[in-house]
Amino acid sequence: MGRQLNLLKQRLEEIRHLNKASALLIWDQETKMPPGGARARAEQLATLSRLGHELFIADRTGELLARAANETADLPFDDDDASLVRVSQRDYDRTKRLPTSLVTEFTRHSVLAHEAWVRARANDDFAAFSPWLERTIELSRQRAEHLGYQENMYDALLDLFEPGIKSSRVTRIFDDLKQELVPLVAAIAERSDRVDDAAVHQPFDERAQEAFGKKIAAILGYDFSRGRLDPTVHPFETSFSCNDVRITTRYESNFLSPSLFGTMHETGHAMYEQGVSPALDHTPLGRGASSAVHESQSRMWENVVGRSRPFWQRYYPDLQRVFPQQLAAVDIDTFYGAINTVQPSLIRVYADEVTYNLHIMLRFEMEMDLLANRYPVSAAPAVWNDKMESYLGVRPPSDTLGILQDVHWSNGLFGYFPTYALGNILSLQLYDKALQERPEIRDQLARGETTGLREWMTEKIYRHGRKFQPAELVERATGEPLQSRAYMKYLQTKFGRLYGL
Ligand code: ZN
Repeated sequence: MGRQLNLLKQRLEEIRHLNKASALLIWDQETKMPPGGARARAEQLATLSRLGHELFIADRTGELLARAANETADLPFDDDDASLVRVSQRDYDRTKRLPTSLVTEFTRHSVLAHEAWVRARANDDFAAFSPWLERTIELSRQRAEHLGYQENMYDALLDLFEPGIKSSRVTRIFDDLKQELVPLVAAIAERSDRVDDAAVHQPFDERAQEAFGKKIAAILGYDFSRGRLDPTVHPFETSFSCNDVRITTRYESNFLSPSLFGTMHETGHAMYEQGVSPALDHTPLGRGASSAVHESQSRMWENVVGRSRPFWQRYYPDLQRVFPQQLAAVDIDTFYGAINTVQPSLIRVYADEVTYNLHIMLRFEMEMDLLANRYPVSAAPAVWNDKMESYLGVRPPSDTLGILQDVHWSNGLFGYFPTYALGNILSLQLYDKALQERPEIRDQLARGETTGLREWMTEKIYRHGRKFQPAELVERATGEPLQSRAYMKYLQTKFGRLYGL
């Protein structure tokens, strides 16, 4: 290895240590920290983000990048070292545009805004959260202005989560999707009596839910010797290395789905991180390519595998044995219907596969409008409720069940939501390709074996980490750009059958 490349790697690894220390403080904040710790935690995280930012944007990093680029100029595009230099140069150019003071303030504000949101949500008090949201939007605008954009300010923020995609393309994809989804939702509504979800709305012991969720996570392929599962209000996955990838889930004593499918969802994220090549582990390439590619994996394991008939054909008897009182008399068809019931609802994270994307479109449109200052933050709850009524036919009775439900705006994550729907689309594009190339995966899944699918995903997606831009990765894996054909066909077929359309 070249001397300059080696020095660059050392420097980037130190920066990564600071970032991972922040990630651990955030994990602790979400899982263990008492509410009183928020103010101190905000300062600790602000310091770490300042130190990491200063080290990264220093001229020394730029010098090392330029020299390492010389040393790696003859290597192939997909070589680990060539990719490290290429991707780090892009990160450097972008990060350098952000003043350290803004980075620090954004971090501090996000931690405090999060605590304000927790209280506002508990008290159904949007007015208490409103000034925090105004500040988040203002800081997001400043971030976008520093980062720069061509068409739309939103693109600068979107690019932080989904490098390379523009909001105009997202709008086109969503418009196409909406045209097919709205009639599908309407057709299902006419036949809503065919399926109901009563089976999953019963009392389920939380410890038994946890034990079964862990078993299913291990069956999907989550390696618990390199991971752990904890309870939180807002489920998430975080990793400190491919050998320490943690997930959380939430338990509801009268509703089985949140913990069961939430665990599968985070397991999908975690298996991606655990599957990154160990050679990339200590570098900036040692994590998933983007939010949408990540979400394609959580949604694939949660929905395409985890809510499929073959999967439960194999594992439903096990679940019945854990909850005999609740499920012994429920046959598999009824259970399959219960976990796939389509019903317009208020809460995104509980939404079924068909209506889910409409929740995302609402947030995407509102983020664009709020950022562009098309209406004041004080008007946002009413806009939210009107959109819910027009897209889903339901009107939130409170802001807790409306605009205050999601964690993202409290954490400053403007630009993130569209990646959920893009991930849904991509999940089927990848799954379809895996089955085309390895038809035996279908039979394996019917026997409850997930290894074949996981191996294909590891080979095509996981092991590469952040080496490739999302568009490059999708093209290399499937031979075409992101497309929603396979996704819409999947929804039409699955729910057409279930509802007899
Ligand atoms: Zn996710």
